[in-house]
Amino acid sequence: MAKVSIQALGKQFGNAVAVADFSLDIADGELITLLGPSGCGKTTTLRMVAGFVEPTAGSILVGDRDITRLPAHRRNTGMVFQRYALFPHMTVAENVSFGLEMHKVPVGEREGRIRAALDMVRMTQLRDRYPRQLSGGQQQRIAVARALAIQPDVFLLDEPLSNLDAKLRVEVRDEIRSLQRRLGLTTIFVTHDQEEALAVSDRMAVMHDGKVQQVGTPESLYESPANLFVADFLGKMNFFPGRLESTNRFLTDKGHSLVVDRSITGGTRVGVRPERISLLAQPATDNALAGVVESTVYLGFQIDARVRLRTGELLSCQVPNSPTAASAPVAVGSEVYACFRPADCVLFTE
Ligand code: ATP
Repeated sequence: MAKVSIQALGKQFGNAVAVADFSLDIADGELITLLGPSGCGKTTTLRMVAGFVEPTAGSILVGDRDITRLPAHRRNTGMVFQRYALFPHMTVAENVSFGLEMHKVPVGEREGRIRAALDMVRMTQLRDRYPRQLSGGQQQRIAVARALAIQPDVFLLDEPLSNLDAKLRVEVRDEIRSLQRRLGLTTIFVTHDQEEALAVSDRMAVMHDGKVQQVGTPESLYESPANLFVADFLGKMNFFPGRLESTNRFLTDKGHSLVVDRSITGGTRVGVRPERISLLAQPATDNALAGVVESTVYLGFQIDARVRLRTGELLSCQVPNSPTAASAPVAVGSEVYACFRPADCVLFTE
């Protein structure tokens, strides 16, 4: 495997900018996700790395090798697609072998490679089946085996779990991640699913309108989003517009004086995650806003509640379904204090 360096990569289709000034270094053995809503340019970026789309600007290096202008089959990337892309008329083993033929792996070496790849995804027993005789999860495992059999320098996955049902999605996701770790695969994983990105990534790059918004570990992006787009795309957030009164006091437009973390020096908006709000019977923390529960959604492990503050704002709150002595009853019409810690206030300057 090798490190990948993407430098000022851009793609225009006619006048439309799909990707602009995209730069990212991916370390040897690192899994990075490209995350963003439909149309943000993540697939185009991945396809430029694979060699299926020609960039209009920038360069791509794998190790020290500039691959920007190389045809796809000479880049040594292994790609997994959303729709598996297995050949229906070939058996599992033939599908894996096809990739090896394309990469001109000598005939004598192929059988060993096929066995090793099928073994990796625990599909050895099914080697003589045809794709139509396999479940979606099994087909995607074969697609993974086919991509890895060629011993790629870079492993590329384009929404590989989108066609699987919820349970299988988590199962295959975890398998891909553990395989990637075990083999030390330098990996780019495209997804629009926030939870999936948080779960599999070493680092993630959030994209919007063809541009990278922020790059970092799942934790750093979730806890310290750089802008409103990242904050709202990666989970939900309640926003209070207003202004800083002093180093640790923020006055909202509706007149709440919030205590915020001292380390914060500027801002025109405070954001608070729904799950960082406790609904209590008494005001118990620095920030305690009085309101009434307007609606609830029971999710088993948690309850989502909308709280209408006395000052009119509507807050989204997610409370664990394990009340403490201090909790207020989370039922429509209950009077509550929405309480959150200064450390859970994120300041934004937009
Ligand atoms: P999705 O998750 O829906 O696939 P995406 O984030 O992967 O979205 P891209 O497929 O990379 O986004 O598309 C980025 C932009 O480029 C979109 O506005 C899209 O319409 C445009 N685009 C992509 N491919 C082409 C093409 N071959 N010709 C013209 N425009 C294209």
